[in-house]
Amino acid sequence: MTRTTSKKVKAIALLSGGLDSTLAIKLISDQGIDVLAVNFFSPFCTCNRPGRCEAKEVSDKLKVPLRRIGLGREYIEMLKSPKYGYGKNMNPCLDCRIMTFTKARQIMEETGADFVFSGEVLGQRPMSQRRDAMRIVERDSGLDGRLLRPLSAKLMKPTIPEEEGLIDREKFLAIQGRSRKVQMKLAENSGIDDYACPAGGCLLTDKGFADRLRDLFEHGEDSLYDINLLKIGRHFRLPTGQKIIAGRNEDENEHLNALAKEEDLKFSAKEHGSPIVVLRRSRARKIMERAAAICARYSSGRHQAEVAVLYWFDSQDPTGTLRVRPIKDQVLKRYLI
Ligand code: SF4
Repeated sequence: MTRTTSKKVKAIALLSGGLDSTLAIKLISDQGIDVLAVNFFSPFCTCNRPGRCEAKEVSDKLKVPLRRIGLGREYIEMLKSPKYGYGKNMNPCLDCRIMTFTKARQIMEETGADFVFSGEVLGQRPMSQRRDAMRIVERDSGLDGRLLRPLSAKLMKPTIPEEEGLIDREKFLAIQGRSRKVQMKLAENSGIDDYACPAGGCLLTDKGFADRLRDLFEHGEDSLYDINLLKIGRHFRLPTGQKIIAGRNEDENEHLNALAKEEDLKFSAKEHGSPIVVLRRSRARKIMERAAAICARYSSGRHQAEVAVLYWFDSQDPTGTLRVRPIKDQVLKRYLI
């Protein structure tokens, strides 16, 4: 079928900044289609390193406009109880995609675009890129027939824009599976050589992070602040429910010191090389002593019988000292999340 209208064809791209979504945009814009790239980011994305935004770099390189959309509270609520469950760790991939594709559909409708497309590859990821899962995402996001996956299009039923001749299906690909060899080759041939994040990055697929997040939700803690703290330091949960975090290096110590809130207490061993330790929401003496003992354990005074540990609130001025024995490793192990 050929084009029946002279109206410029428009499409909405989901752009992670990774290789697959970059190639998908190239395949669509090479057909003369107007592309608006949309980049969703949640508190769990790791693709955007400080001072860099992969999606912005890709959109600049491909000369397509970019809209960035942050997913906050709504995403966290979905994450606590995803309709289609979790993958191997805490990754709710189907629900996550349904949310982002639903938002992409809304942008498609607002802007009068003809379809939405992504760099998804059939069979590349076990949870969200099986054929049936891809179909669920299409249906639940309200994109029936208008969600195109150019990298695997030839293995799938033609979409409405393909059937209407708005785009040429012949120019699409039939990639499937986990190997990225074809994509790497294509990237090389198209002069795309700086894909810093080829597989995308999501903390929810990381076991250690998922364990800490599960513990957080089990204790009714779900603020963005608590979630951001999970990215720093060693985390401990006392049997009485309080949370303690210890910095692992200078960077994390600085971060913890800067991030901690008014309701938190901070600790540092007075006469030793010491981490910053944060105790969340408690000022009970016994709990403070536990936090101080953890601080002493990770300080250079760990082999001493007693260590002096300063504690203070949000101001820099120390407000008190506790003299404690460094906590024993077998006890500490029970608290470690
Ligand atoms: S890996 Fe993370 S960002 Fe990607 S679909 Fe799954 S939950 Fe969403």
